Amino acid sequence: MITAARAVKPDTVGVRAVDAAREALLELVDAADVGEHLGHTAEDDRVVTHYFECLGAGYRGWRWAVTVARAPRMKTVTVDEVVLLPSEGAIIAPEWVPYRDRIQAGDLSPGDLLPTEEDDPRLVPGYLSGDPGDDIVDQDTWRDVIEKLDLGRPRVLSLEGRDLAAQRWYDGSHGPHALLAQSAPARCASCGFLVRLAGPLSRVFGVCANAQANDDGRVVSRDHGCGAHSEAQLAQNSQPQPLADPVLDTLSWDELEKF
Ligand code: SF4
Repeated sequence: MITAARAVKPDTVGVRAVDAAREALLELVDAADVGEHLGHTAEDDRVVTHYFECLGAGYRGWRWAVTVARAPRMKTVTVDEVVLLPSEGAIIAPEWVPYRDRIQAGDLSPGDLLPTEEDDPRLVPGYLSGDPGDDIVDQDTWRDVIEKLDLGRPRVLSLEGRDLAAQRWYDGSHGPHALLAQSAPARCASCGFLVRLAGPLSRVFGVCANAQANDDGRVVSRDHGCGAHSEAQLAQNSQPQPLADPVLDTLSWDELEKF
């Protein structure tokens, strides 16, 4: 059950304990790094946090937070913790992204390895052609079986992996939305340079085999296209103009000696 946050009444003794908080802070950090008192927050009953400006180089926008607490019926506070916290405008590190998620296509250099997780949803055991379903046997066992029975690749693309790839290719620079395709005279589907694929992806994709095309050797969607289409023709006014017949001058001397 969710309950509304209770309003906390600032503890008077805690609020007044600015000097005690600063004293505790100066025991831990250099006085040159501590600036003005910036205010306080009531954390709980008899628990108050005081904030001090941080003057450390490179810590613009950061502030020291000193939390003090008071036991019931006591007239003095004790220090709970001292921390450095970012506030508005503080320079902080960007959110951490796991190494695996940071890798982009084209990042791998020769010799780099990027192992695939055992449970990567883009792959299924080689003896399955669709949904992997529940765990059938442990990974090592089925790898042994695949190898011994010579069933081919240990893992193949799952339906999810295939759909992800198809969507990525279709939305990218080899699909119908690419600028190249928008101004193409015709689609890849009618181009003599399109090599057909086998399997379900063949309904949407093929491989471009035109050495002069930007997409040579790449998977392209059938509704992609480019100016190197096999049937592309230059407009009449863009055709090379025929040269006039040469004229032989038989009435005057050629002044070839000058040259
Ligand atoms: S040459 Fe152009 S139109 Fe033909 S298959 Fe390649 S990308 Fe498509």
